[in-house]
Amino acid sequence: MKNMSIKINEKLKIGGGGFVIISGPCTIESEIQMLSISKSVKKLGVDILRGGAFKPRTSPHDFQGLRDEGLKIITKVKEIVKLPFISEVVSIKDIEKVSLVADILQVGERNMQNFELLKHLGKTKKPILIKRGKANTINELLMSAEYVKVSGNNKIILCERGIRTFENETRFTLDLSMVPIVKTKSPYPIIVDPSHALGNSELVSALSKAALVVGADGLMVECHNNPKKAMCDGEQSITPSELKALIRDLNKIRKVL
Ligand code: PEP
Ligand code: MN
Repeated sequence: MKNMSIKINEKLKIGGGGFVIISGPCTIESEIQMLSISKSVKKLGVDILRGGAFKPRTSPHDFQGLRDEGLKIITKVKEIVKLPFISEVVSIKDIEKVSLVADILQVGERNMQNFELLKHLGKTKKPILIKRGKANTINELLMSAEYVKVSGNNKIILCERGIRTFENETRFTLDLSMVPIVKTKSPYPIIVDPSHALGNSELVSALSKAALVVGADGLMVECHNNPKKAMCDGEQSITPSELKALIRDLNKIRKVL
């Protein structure tokens, strides 16, 4: 099927032949943390920053994100670093305020089938990145995209972030076979997030390269300047220097491809 490309700003699009890198911490912890990571990853050539202000957490006792304070930090970081930003929306009531600061709205895996949220996101003009649920089929992911589209917004980006299988060496199983399948079944760009799938920073580089080779339109990789101290997902976050080595390898592979 013909591959769509989604315009993010005057300089950047996702899909249509390029390979975008989205990177940043799992969660926005402070202005200093977000700014320092953003500056580091920009130097490496990252196209889009990531960082959650609203965090869906398995336990209600875990950090839920800086919320409105996090949105203010996104605005500040964008002013200084001048890169687009993706951030998650967990509830209908937050769509408007997250839209004011983020360039792409993320639907997390837990909300992939929150159909009311999807319908409301379909009424916005922002690109929407939909992560595949850990227990959802490819077809169910495409139907979630359809909810956004029929509500009026076809700026859709899909994201594979691992599904739950019996294997427990990794946090989830990264289903790279979905990439070429999605390419034949839908026009939307597809991004691979190896970080949440693997849950282990040492494996991120290998699967990132595999994602490029299998035809993904880009990567979303968690990066932290001090993973051991990260408030969320430190075990799977790579450092800026590891990201630098990864991007160097990806560029070499792209030349061969
Ligand atoms: C995230 O991207 O930080 C996140 C929570 O991802 P997922 O919804 O894939 O678990
Ligand atoms: Mn995370």
